[in-house]
Amino acid sequence: MNYIRKIKKHPFGGSYLAINLFGFIFTLRELDEVELNHELIHSAQQRELLYLPFFIWYCIEWLFLFFKYKNWNTAYYNIRFEREAYIHQEDLNYLKTRKHYRYN
Ligand SMILES: [Zn+2]
Repeated sequence: MNYIRKIKKHPFGGSYLAINLFGFIFTLRELDEVELNHELIHSAQQRELLYLPFFIWYCIEWLFLFFKYKNWNTAYYNIRFEREAYIHQEDLNYLKTRKHYRYN
């Protein structure tokens, strides 16, 4: 079971729709099935990396890519976890066949 909670404002600000923290999904509005699938892909990534290492890796990679691209958005879309989630979010059966540690 996944924990999804609607909130009015993200604790860290920002204009993103949803955030997945340790498998808990916080969203500003109801997610459609593609958006939900995107978040569930992140849940699978977090689970297999035992949560905390996922966030450390995510932040370090984002920072590294920021220095590479000099743009936070471009860096974000190139984080391996986001690439996997964006590439496969429209495949609603993806999580049934997904292999572990196959980012992007
Ligand atoms: Zn994402």
